[in-house]
Formats: sequence, structure tokens, C-alpha cells
Amino acid sequence: MPSYEYACGDCGPFTVHRAMQDVTPTVPCPTCDCPARRVYTAPHTRRTSPGFRRALDAQEASRHEPRVVESIPARTGRRNVTTNPLHRRLPRP
Ligand SMILES: [Zn+2]
Repeated sequence: MPSYEYACGDCGPFTVHRAMQDVTPTVPCPTCDCPARRVYTAPHTRRTSPGFRRALDAQEASRHEPRVVESIPARTGRRNVTTNPLHRRLPRP
């Protein structure tokens, strides 16, 4: 979800995260509730490795469009990720 910069005349700049179709020229200031005007800034271009960028995109997508599965994923070779005996009492899927 993109972020947009707004500036309140009394409280200063703040960032709002919303969908592109929901962007308005003014929003209420989160501190004083006065109308704050949108400020246009340079786009936040990413300079990250492709793998890290894919992980960030997947994390962001999972917030808004979580993957729905119809069965429990198959076990992989990884077992016992913890050695704490209290974790054995936790419920299993
Ligand atoms: Zn304000």
C-alpha cells in the first residue's frame, strides 16, 4: 500500500498509508484534527537485493491478500526447530 506525505500547519509532516483510489488532497491531522494538505515528495525507490525485495513484497502482500490454502502444507525435512520442552505442549495443527 503506498504512503503519502501530508503536512499540518501546526503539527508538521506525517505519513498516511492508503489505497491509491482513497487518496484525498487533505486529511485530518492525527494530532489536532485540523485539515492537513498533501505534500508531494520524491518517490521512494528501492535499492535492495532482488531476494530481499521479493521477501518484502511477499510480506506486504500477505497483509492485504493472505494466501488461502485448502490443506496443510507437506512436511519438509526440518523438524524440532526448538529444544524447549514447554513447546511440546503447544497445540499442533
Ligand atoms: Zn495538526
